[in-house]
Amino acid sequence: MSATQEIIPSVTDVTRGSRLDVMPGVGSAERRTRAHGAFWIMVRRVVVLAACVDFAFLAFFLAIGEPRQAWPNVLSIAMYAAAYALLTKRRNALALFLVWTEVVGHAALGTLFLGWDSGFHYYLLMFIPAIIVSGGWRVTIFPLLFLFAFYLGLHAASYALGALAPIGRGDLWALNVFNVAIFFVMASYTARFYSENVRKSERKLRQSATTDALTGLANRGHLLDLAKQCIAQAGRRGENMSVVLADIDHFKQINDRFGHEAGDQVLRHAGKMFGCMCRERDIVARWGGEEFLFLLPGTDSEDARQLAERIRVACEAAGIEWRQANIRFTLSAGVSTLAPAEDINAAIGRADKALYQSKFAGRNLVSVAD
Ligand code: GH3
Ligand code: MG
Ligand code: MG
Repeated sequence: MSATQEIIPSVTDVTRGSRLDVMPGVGSAERRTRAHGAFWIMVRRVVVLAACVDFAFLAFFLAIGEPRQAWPNVLSIAMYAAAYALLTKRRNALALFLVWTEVVGHAALGTLFLGWDSGFHYYLLMFIPAIIVSGGWRVTIFPLLFLFAFYLGLHAASYALGALAPIGRGDLWALNVFNVAIFFVMASYTARFYSENVRKSERKLRQSATTDALTGLANRGHLLDLAKQCIAQAGRRGENMSVVLADIDHFKQINDRFGHEAGDQVLRHAGKMFGCMCRERDIVARWGGEEFLFLLPGTDSEDARQLAERIRVACEAAGIEWRQANIRFTLSAGVSTLAPAEDINAAIGRADKALYQSKFAGRNLVSVAD
């Protein structure tokens, strides 16, 4: 039987695969990867587990001398095998239809033939999370009410009719324990799957909200958030804190001459270099197009100037290979040191003025704000 149910295959998840099929601009390899993502891996595992459970039922009923109750499980196993094959061919909706049919049919017939105490009805409860994750209340309320009515109806019918094919009390008890155990496993597995997915999505969201996608450095907003903590910490420790604002020189010309992609590559390369050249405590962010901001806790003006100078020299020396061309680039920088209790924006404004001086004086220079 099927226990299985679990499956919690939501309507949204089912359609996710088909929507990708018609999604313009999504490459076929990517489509395949996404459609066969974690959710469908979970469904496949559950289908295999369900088939094993049905096999256990088959063995159980043969062992207790009830072959008429045993053989229908062969049909269930065949349905799961077909569902698995369909999943490998990405016929997801049909596969889920088979699985759900098996679960409902098995739960209902098992309950009617062996009685409510057999515990086959537990599997119907796996539909609750499956329905809930399918969408909002408007989508889920009627299926939930239907499930509720079906469950109560099965309960009433089972008590009114009694077990149509009763088995011994000990066997019935064993069956109940087995079904409860499988229900626990299925419910725990699917709940864990969803909670892990939520955690992963949160991580991704946090990452994209704080990171610059091109360079992998912190973005402007994240740097400003971190700056508040750094300033507070520096204040407590009585430390200096400096900022360096750096801007790649004539970057527009690089784009114009080599193309925007080459420009992106320069930014990536610069970002990687800057990340490597800083201490663990320092924070480097992509401040804007080709501007980078360094936040340097525990660093006075002279140390910050020296770091900026090292960065300037490294850029001058670096260059990147781009389609048989060697792209050279330089950088100008402005340095400022925060006065006690000074706002970070004021310090960045002074670094910006110093940067302007560097540009004005001919570029490829570092200037320190007064
Ligand atoms: P200056 O030496 O005065 O800084 O000159 P510049 O050309 O570097 O500065 P300008 O502000 O004139 O041009 C900056 C260019 O950077 C213009 C913009 O198209 C380009 N840019 C901004 N963001 C990106 C990006 O993410 N990728 C690429 N390839 N180019 C970008
Ligand atoms: Mg520039
Ligand atoms: Mg600029």
